[in-house]
Amino acid sequence: MLRTGAIAALAAAVLLLAACSGDESPGDEAAAVSIRTLATSTALPTPVATATAAATTTPVPPTAIATATATPVPPTPSPSTSPVAAPATAQPPSPTPVAPTADGPSVELSPATVKQGDVFVVRLRNAPVEPTPVVLFSGLSHVMLLENELWWAVIGVAADFPPGQQRVQVSTGTGADGLPIVTVTVTDAAFPEENVELSPETSQLLTDAPAIEDERQLLDSLYAGLSRKRDWAGPFVMPAAGALGDTFGMKRSFNGGPFSNHTGVDILAAEGAPVVAANVGRVVYTGALQLRGNTVVIDHGAGVFTGYHHLSQISVVEGQAVSQGETIGAVGATGLVTAAHLHWELIVRGVRVDPLPWTQAEIGP
Ligand SMILES: [Zn+2]
Repeated sequence: MLRTGAIAALAAAVLLLAACSGDESPGDEAAAVSIRTLATSTALPTPVATATAAATTTPVPPTAIATATATPVPPTPSPSTSPVAAPATAQPPSPTPVAPTADGPSVELSPATVKQGDVFVVRLRNAPVEPTPVVLFSGLSHVMLLENELWWAVIGVAADFPPGQQRVQVSTGTGADGLPIVTVTVTDAAFPEENVELSPETSQLLTDAPAIEDERQLLDSLYAGLSRKRDWAGPFVMPAAGALGDTFGMKRSFNGGPFSNHTGVDILAAEGAPVVAANVGRVVYTGALQLRGNTVVIDHGAGVFTGYHHLSQISVVEGQAVSQGETIGAVGATGLVTAAHLHWELIVRGVRVDPLPWTQAEIGP
């Protein structure tokens, strides 16, 4: 937890970052003025990838698949012909069935309804390998990736993304590709709120505005990268052993300031406990950041990164390939923290999302 003794004006300016480093220890939790419990358990994600959900006659929206072919369709689930219901437990998804079997290109969202802080996968089937299509979502253009003759992209929905329906358009840039516009429904994740009173002593870290801005720009720059080859396979693993502290997206107010969403999950572990790579990837940053402390960032390809923060030790170097479960450092209390813990972030094409669904099922094409 941040001990920002934050001066009001500065606090407002840095609050997002402050929340990012965010950082709870058991002792700090006791200092919370109040916690409106919309039970953290409700903040836990439903497995995104149960989208194999060959929907039965009673489709379940959160795991449903929206498909569209020649004409736009509303984001209602499209029942498939398969009678098999999706398993309740997370399984690596097999290729998602598509109900329409038209020969032309078809666009598919999985799931078609997504909570704030979760992700959805866009797939384009029966499309040529050129030109490279893009996904247009919320004013941004995302290059699709080709894997096993399937165009796909995983798109993150920010914790503060406004609930409601949003257009998702796939375009090949020709202007006449005839692809339908589909709709994703973003639902309110009802993140719990927490008011935190912070000690003034660590506020000194927050007074260095240039260092804070450097941190923001450095991470933004890293996360703007897009390695087109997906490196990860299967579900991610938790990068440290320990109970969860603050979950992703919690709306936290420090010293009565404005609320901002927690940008990762906190894993409560002792100083020196091993931190491992959550999945296969390549180390793209190691170093000390103003708020997040000693940091390792891993690029997993396809626009997906993980960040490991407040470390006491870093045992990898930039450029190093890492395997899942490989030790990359140790839990620490560097940066804006009051006690050792791991602040773990997962970033999808520049958007911080809840890492936990990624540990429950494979998310991919
Ligand atoms: Zn945190």
